[in-house]
Amino acid sequence: MSKIIENVNLNEFKIAKITVVCPMCSNMFATDYIESMQDLQANSIVEADLHRVIDNPKVRAALLAMCPACLYTWWFSSFKTHYFLPQLVVDSPEINCSKKFAHAILAGRQFNAHALDTAVLALNGWWSSRENHEPQKSVWNWLELSIAELTKALDDKSINFNKSRYSYILAELLRQNQEFTEACNYFKQVDKRAMLPQQLIDNQFKLAIQKDSSPKFLSPEFIEQIFLPKLANKDYLQKVS
Ligand SMILES: [Zn+2]
Repeated sequence: MSKIIENVNLNEFKIAKITVVCPMCSNMFATDYIESMQDLQANSIVEADLHRVIDNPKVRAALLAMCPACLYTWWFSSFKTHYFLPQLVVDSPEINCSKKFAHAILAGRQFNAHALDTAVLALNGWWSSRENHEPQKSVWNWLELSIAELTKALDDKSINFNKSRYSYILAELLRQNQEFTEACNYFKQVDKRAMLPQQLIDNQFKLAIQKDSSPKFLSPEFIEQIFLPKLANKDYLQKVS
């Protein structure tokens, strides 16, 4: 696990501006969005908590849109686009990237979004704070919030989602937060439904036992097995070629 920080195209994301309409106050405004992105590759940088590391913090921030009139903030994909040229309408506020995720979490709480929604926002806020090289205190605050929100989501019996995979992510966050006993408890709950290599789960479990809290990168082999299973399966390639 480690060493894959070469041959990565840091310009793999293209950001553009577009006009959208706020669903809360009907205000029109211009916001960044991800116009194109390169597919994940075996040599991309991905951490063991399944975080694809993005060099430019503006990219993750562009996953959200923030209304300049009422400050409502949510996933960009939930906003309706408008044909007006973005140059002709007011811009979304300039805001620190991870703070944008904090505004989205506030909106989620206000509108009773499920804990998994806020957990995913908190995770992105954490990743954003690290990609943005924010002060350590802010990074730890985000990590603790992510742990609290993910724990809440996993405790909720009322909805169905891949709890095994999220248990793995939570275990990995707990390990990085030096909560090693709790981390081991969650690693033990990860089963086949997580669709993760057993060797990866065993490796991270061992790190928790050894009280190692440092972030780790996924090897290209693990990236292929998790995100590009067709590439990892040579039989499949032979059949389709
Ligand atoms: Zn609004």
